[in-house]
Amino acid sequence: MKNHLSLVSKLDGVDSFIVPLSTCQDRCKYFDDDICYWLNNAHRHYKNPKLMYSRNLRLMRSSKFVKVLSNEILRANCRKFRFFSGGQTESLKQLIDVLKICKICHMVKFAIMINSDIQIAQLIQSGYKIPQNANLLLSNYEENTPTPQFMINEITPHNIGHTQTTLSKSVATCEASKVKNGKCGTCEKCYYEKDITFMIHGKFNKKRVLKNG
Ligand code: SF4
Repeated sequence: MKNHLSLVSKLDGVDSFIVPLSTCQDRCKYFDDDICYWLNNAHRHYKNPKLMYSRNLRLMRSSKFVKVLSNEILRANCRKFRFFSGGQTESLKQLIDVLKICKICHMVKFAIMINSDIQIAQLIQSGYKIPQNANLLLSNYEENTPTPQFMINEITPHNIGHTQTTLSKSVATCEASKVKNGKCGTCEKCYYEKDITFMIHGKFNKKRVLKNG
């Protein structure tokens, strides 16, 4: 039976759930400036990524999402899981479904990254409690820019972290992002750290950031 999980080599083979970039590309400067990692690399991971991601999106929109995906994660017997190496949830309902999956799979550590500050604000308003094994992170949708302090102040008391990117090696806190083809190794910051800065790599990407900055 085909499942909906992907192994991401860059993350040292961590299991992940990926949906099409149509879910995250609006209001995303990475997409606009052509430096989105998945836009440029998805073909390296799958023969037909679009097909697989669309199937995942259909599942995420369906009423079976929580049951089917939590069963698959439990069957995979993994210790760590990444939600959205590409794409993201489209609504508060889907975000809560993701958190329900984390709660069911309580032995697994989850990193969840989305760039929708609207969904994060709605989640805070809803009062839904984030499970302890889930590290929910708001990704800044503008490259080479720190997350604005007012946003950090809003989300931190609710146990929601943030990520941003930089062109400066001394500012980056993700070690894997500082080296070419870097991998996570024993690092697990994405699963507990509330403030992570990734380095933008590749000389073409740097040029694009500086050109569009
Ligand atoms: S912060 Fe650590 S776990 Fe996260 S991507 Fe970088 S190396 Fe991997």
